[in-house]
Amino acid sequence: MNADPRRPAPTLDFLTTKKDELIGWARKFSLFPYPFVTACCAMEFMSVSSTLYDTDRFGAALPRFSPRQSDLLMVVGTVNHKQAPILRKIYEQMCEPKWVIAFGVCATSGGFYQNYAAVAGIDRIIPVDVFIPGCPPRPEMVIDGIMKLQDKIAGSKHPIVNERF
Ligand code: SF4
Repeated sequence: MNADPRRPAPTLDFLTTKKDELIGWARKFSLFPYPFVTACCAMEFMSVSSTLYDTDRFGAALPRFSPRQSDLLMVVGTVNHKQAPILRKIYEQMCEPKWVIAFGVCATSGGFYQNYAAVAGIDRIIPVDVFIPGCPPRPEMVIDGIMKLQDKIAGSKHPIVNERF
């Protein structure tokens, strides 16, 4: 009961905000990447996953090779039109919430493959959260991209099925 009629009644906004912050914090440190690797950027993906750069610091070190066990699709390398439906299907098989990183300039825009076979950016096929340019990108750029994705996850709303708040 609201004792002072001049003050607005308390709402549950506070609890909802704190719930989103808590889930966002947990999710941003438990990313399970699915590497969709097609070309030479794979070398840099392996480099950034190694001990020296240690993506475990960001909770993103353990690749899953099943889309149903992944929440981060990392598209690494050139994607051609023949592969486009496969990439789309893998994205659709991932459970929500899910995020996508375009790793390297080929995945971002087609790179220098301006021809009939290459897709000029994977955002023509699936939604992309973070674009990392470079041919190939430096490991520091990849880590910067992961941190940007973490910021995005932390700042997002995280609805829960049958939410009671
Ligand atoms: S961005 Fe460069 S290194 Fe990466 S797949 Fe394309 S050509 Fe290869």
